[in-house]
Amino acid sequence: MALIVHKYGGTSMGSTDRIKNVARRVAKWHDAGHRIVVVPSAMSGETNRLIALAKEIQSQPDPRELDMIASTGEQVSVGLLAMALLAIGKKAVSYAGWQVAIKTDSAYTKARIQSIDNDKVNRDLDDGKIVIITGFQGVDDLGNIATLGRGGSDTSAVAIAAAMKADECLIFTDVDGVYTTDPRVVSEARRLKAITFEEMLELASLGSKVLQTRSVEFAGNYRVPTRVLSSLTDPMLDIEEEANSGTLISFEEDKHMEQAVISGIAFNRDEAKITVLGVPDRPGVAYHILGPVADANIEVDMIIQNQSVEGKTDFTFTVSRNDYQRAIDVLNGTREELGAASVTGDAKVSKISVVGVGMRSHVGVASQMFRTLSEEGINIMMISTSEIKISVLIDEKYMELAVRALHKAFELEKA
Ligand code: ASP
Ligand code: MG
Repeated sequence: MALIVHKYGGTSMGSTDRIKNVARRVAKWHDAGHRIVVVPSAMSGETNRLIALAKEIQSQPDPRELDMIASTGEQVSVGLLAMALLAIGKKAVSYAGWQVAIKTDSAYTKARIQSIDNDKVNRDLDDGKIVIITGFQGVDDLGNIATLGRGGSDTSAVAIAAAMKADECLIFTDVDGVYTTDPRVVSEARRLKAITFEEMLELASLGSKVLQTRSVEFAGNYRVPTRVLSSLTDPMLDIEEEANSGTLISFEEDKHMEQAVISGIAFNRDEAKITVLGVPDRPGVAYHILGPVADANIEVDMIIQNQSVEGKTDFTFTVSRNDYQRAIDVLNGTREELGAASVTGDAKVSKISVVGVGMRSHVGVASQMFRTLSEEGINIMMISTSEIKISVLIDEKYMELAVRALHKAFELEKA
């Protein structure tokens, strides 16, 4: 008998028929003798609908009140799922985050979980009940409801699994696992049987939408074995087969890790690059350029500062394309004070990253990446690296070509 946390995303909870399927799948796991906690998202589209309602009243909704509204989608889901389980003869009980209680800080709309009291949940499990807990929300010290940011139910599920020392956290979703790259771009993309949490963390923060980044941090910090698998299969699928399907987010020392140098290729089409030309090269320049950008809440990604010539340098960085115009405006506002000659940019660039823990022990990954791009005649504008990632910025025109060429060069289609 194991303690297993199941998480179901919005698509899986998207209609009462789908909720009935979730109930059958959950019941199957419970019938096999496991203790089961379920963490569902709101029905698909519901959180968007709630936020849109709030914005009809206040264009910049008050964060506390917004959380009051946005958290209700999950409350509907847990009640419906509990009923669907009761209707097929299972014992089940649903709870909102504050009833458990899942304690968070007071950073409304992006709160962090601080602690989870699992006494009540354990008593229910001892009683043979399936326990269903709202994803995405918790309660702060003052009793206010706080949500964990969009996609936060993943984090709720992994955090609950960590707090309860669950044997596994199963994230049921509308894709059947984590792929070497987006199969819509490379048809040979292959599902990975396992990926290390560090690689998953890079992929999540590089924009892979499979899991909320913070949930992967939790899985890593608390060593929660987490599996991403499909909720769109037959709910009565053989349980052994289901338990081994999808992608396991694992730890490097695990035996079942594949031995590839590169595990995946991530890309982000929507990047923009900004260059401040002719800035005096003296202490504080980077701070004076990027400080006002940060104050405008614009996230900066890659950064390069060139060699200075006659005391002047060029400074280039990337931002998300949505923030491009705002960042240019900010810099035009500070340009004179900086003593910079001009501000230019290019909003038609994309970032491609190869990710793999194998880079730590293999040399030549960067040169292979650069050779592949050069053979395709693709110019690299910027490069950044971490221990397990190399990212390049290129013209968006060549993005798909580059991803396909790299997928082939690193033989990612081969298991
Ligand atoms: N319902 C929330 C959202 O749409 C949380 C989640 O689904 O994970 O962002
Ligand atoms: Mg999600």
